[in-house]
Amino acid sequence: MSKIAILYCKRIKDHSCIGCAKCYKAMQEKNGEFANYEDDIELVAMTDCGDCPGLVVPRVKLLTEVVKNLDRPFEAIHLGTCVKLAMETAGCPIKFDKLKNVLEKKFGAKVILGTHSY
Ligand code: SF4
Ligand code: SF4
Repeated sequence: MSKIAILYCKRIKDHSCIGCAKCYKAMQEKNGEFANYEDDIELVAMTDCGDCPGLVVPRVKLLTEVVKNLDRPFEAIHLGTCVKLAMETAGCPIKFDKLKNVLEKKFGAKVILGTHSY
């Protein structure tokens, strides 16, 4: 079982994807970035990016503390396809390569850009 967390774009969620149904479907179908998992996927937590101008690091710090207290650590963090779209089309200030480096060093979880391909 692979345990993951998803961060969504606070500005887009429920505007482009309602109820995050696309990510839930994609996890079940191993679609998009989820195709890289061989075993089942367990979604441990899903929360927003911390809002503009890119407050992901304190958000992930809080999230990591919460899941640690619940004894439910995650091994990977996906930035949702919504975040990817925001970066590509909506002036999102997140610089993925830099963020990935910081998060992986600080929190020890693999960071992946994107989720579903729908
Ligand atoms: S890409 Fe995923 S996490 Fe982002 S809004 Fe859509 S369903 Fe939710
Ligand atoms: S920082 Fe990027 S992902 Fe987060 S709310 Fe702003 S545009 Fe969306």
